[in-house]
Amino acid sequence: MDVKKFISAAKRGKIDLERFYSHLFRELEKLDKKFRVFTTFMKPESAQLKSIKKTGLAGLPVSVKDCICVKGMQSAAGSRILEGYKPPFDATTVSKIKEQNGFVIGKTNQDEFGFGTFSTNSGFGVPKNPHNTSRCAGGSSGGAAALTAALDFPHIALAESTGGSISCPASFCGVVGLTPTYGMVSRYGLIDYANSLDKIGAMGKSVEDASLILSIIAGHDPRDSTSINRKSQNYKNYLKKGAEKMKIGVPKEYFGSGVDDVVAKQVWKGIKKLESLGASYKEVSLPMTRHAVSTYYIIACAEASTNLAKFCGMRYGPTEPLQGSFSEYFSKVRTRYFGEEAKRRILLGTYARMAGYRDQYYLRAMKVRTLIINEFRRAFEGFDVLVAPTMPVVAPRFSEIEKLSPEEAYMMDILTVAPNLAGIPMVSVPCGTAHGMPVGLHIMADHLQECKILRAAWALEKGGLG
Ligand code: GLN
Repeated sequence: MDVKKFISAAKRGKIDLERFYSHLFRELEKLDKKFRVFTTFMKPESAQLKSIKKTGLAGLPVSVKDCICVKGMQSAAGSRILEGYKPPFDATTVSKIKEQNGFVIGKTNQDEFGFGTFSTNSGFGVPKNPHNTSRCAGGSSGGAAALTAALDFPHIALAESTGGSISCPASFCGVVGLTPTYGMVSRYGLIDYANSLDKIGAMGKSVEDASLILSIIAGHDPRDSTSINRKSQNYKNYLKKGAEKMKIGVPKEYFGSGVDDVVAKQVWKGIKKLESLGASYKEVSLPMTRHAVSTYYIIACAEASTNLAKFCGMRYGPTEPLQGSFSEYFSKVRTRYFGEEAKRRILLGTYARMAGYRDQYYLRAMKVRTLIINEFRRAFEGFDVLVAPTMPVVAPRFSEIEKLSPEEAYMMDILTVAPNLAGIPMVSVPCGTAHGMPVGLHIMADHLQECKILRAAWALEKGGLG
């Protein structure tokens, strides 16, 4: 049963939610054992299920990435330093889902604070790719993508992206991953990674599912000062327009070295498919792409290092016996509970912000970021959307990931960090397979042009390249 059928049946009272949820949780336990998709999940009490109204999402199961706060459920952003933290409030996105009678089934596994591309940096076990468990699920929203791919029940996932954390795992697991324009969805209640980059978005099995959730979670929130003053819309209304007359730009740098030929070939098939559906395409050049990874990692680490300062064993998460000076105490807690990648990023970020280096790194990166934004802006003068591979490769094997240096791992983000730096909306849609694994096709549009990416994505999905 898909999401649409579930909602329509549930609204008509045709679904016994108690039976449904007892089957669902049996399945979730199995999936979690196999793929380690959750950091925590909780079987609902029957009173909770009884109180669900038969309107809106009518009891639809929704999973929430661990970094998004859910009242009373451990929200640890994949980090041991937040283990046991149960927020006394819901993130705005979560309250909106609950208001529409969506039911939160659990918190999905992720790289610690979003630091990673393979979800191998989680403090709570490593999610595996349901298509092949010797391969990663992608990161940082690996649990959300693996769950969406593996679960044969109607379900939608709330996820988050800073530099590609929705697109990457969606691509590796063969599901739809939607990242909205920066500021379009409230981040109140998000355990932040890098405030100038973080966005909450959605994952689902179909473009329609992702659009449905976006329509619910978008819109202005006075509690998030970066939230755009705009109402949400019903994005599903745009889908049927399809790709007819759309002008597609194909950025040649996104098919360059490092991009697996078989992946590129598959994405080209997707572009030709869109052409056959009435779109036209032309090559475009985005030369700033080569600076995107270094720019992104300077900015993201600088912001992350300040955000992580609050995790010191005083307010949240585990504590240690109070001995020695404050600074000894903080060091002990942070040494023990932060993972290796979090420590690396604190060091990198602190360095980039230090007096003497700030001009050379952080401020320079901010200037390059403006150039990247301008380059996209120019491209969108001539094109409705840009289309490229989401990731340069299919989901790598864990044995391959182990051999990567941090720099090589960061380079894997080459195709997703530029649009994330620009804050433009993007969606990754399944586009066939390569090496027996799903390939993701990335569709990007100008700020607030979600309708365009969703139209093209829907056309491709209907066109049958998934
Ligand atoms: N892989 C990128 C990083 O490690 C993006 C992660 C994210 O979007 N949260 O920073």
